[in-house]
Amino acid sequence: MYDCIVLGGGPAGLTASVYLARLRRSVIIVDAGLSRASLIPRSYNHPAFPEGVPGRVLLDRMHDQSSRFGVERIVGRGDRLERTEHGFLCAVAGRTLHSFAFIYATGLVDILPQWPDAVELVRNGNLRVCPICDGYEINGAPVVIIGNNRRAAKEAAFLLSFTESVTLATLGAELTDLSPADIEPPLRLTTARLLHHRPLSGDRISLEFVDGGRIDAAVYSALGCRPQSQLAQAVGVRLDEEGRIPTSQHQRTNVERFFAIGDVVTGLNQLGVAMAQGEIAAVALHNDLLAFSGDH
Ligand SMILES: Cc1cc2nc3c(=O)[nH]c(=O)nc-3n(C[C@H](O)[C@H](O)[C@H](O)COP(=O)(O)OP(=O)(O)OC[C@H]3O[C@@H](n4cnc5c(N)ncnc54)[C@H](O)[C@@H]3O)c2cc1C
Repeated sequence: MYDCIVLGGGPAGLTASVYLARLRRSVIIVDAGLSRASLIPRSYNHPAFPEGVPGRVLLDRMHDQSSRFGVERIVGRGDRLERTEHGFLCAVAGRTLHSFAFIYATGLVDILPQWPDAVELVRNGNLRVCPICDGYEINGAPVVIIGNNRRAAKEAAFLLSFTESVTLATLGAELTDLSPADIEPPLRLTTARLLHHRPLSGDRISLEFVDGGRIDAAVYSALGCRPQSQLAQAVGVRLDEEGRIPTSQHQRTNVERFFAIGDVVTGLNQLGVAMAQGEIAAVALHNDLLAFSGDH
């Protein structure tokens, strides 16, 4: 019986695990190993790294810190989560783990264009997903946003603070909750299907369309994301309309002693936010367990 199982070993879960271990709690991380942070070629906005830091380096350092304080880790996907009389049960890789409390830190998965090299392009910095993270580095270059709805158009408008040339490209998909008239200059719209895409140096992609058009640009995917919240829902955790988990100020969900942190939670998807939420949840959970053991 662990004090806490942390599901998800990205920046959120790893931070929580270090705090819990240093509060002398028994904690185990279950991690499928697909952190969004591992896709960051180099982050320039993460505090304390003036030269920028690759996401992989951050994760390696956090794993090292977590294991130095004795946090156990199972590499695998938790595939069953249940409430039990005393807390929670999580099944992973043929093992069944039990804990008094639970921290849910499974993140989200970005929906990318259906290109065979899409993940590789993200990892290399050619295909972008987060204007807050790397809009600064556009440096006035033309930008293409791939998407076909109001949310993508909003992201396109947001990017006008970094460049004068922004094109929303649907790649042939129907516009959904949007009409062409909603795209006002200086924003541009192309609904043409794509013929080819080719990565260029300097983090750009060359897009050639079937109508003969071609744009060499910094390219963002604004196709949305899938919050990894299904297992939380299985134990009764309430989700918002996007499938993310609303929490209290201390990262509590509506289920007692079940905390949620990081990108799976409603709010800003950033490394620093995920880490801070990990810290807050760990301390709140520690205090809850102190009160709980006092009561029993
Ligand atoms: C290309 C890119 C660039 C970015 N750049 C920046 C930047 O410059 N600055 C910044 O602040 N942020 C940036 N971000 C955002 C940042 O990566 C995320 O905010 C951060 O990784 C969120 O951490 P997390 O721990 O919540 O989720 P994640 O890092 O995604 O970790 C979640 C972990 O949970 C695991 N998991 C999911 N389901 C299960 C399950 N059932 N069982 C076991 N494990 C599971 C996943 O495999 C994963 O390892 C960027 C993201 C991307 C994709």
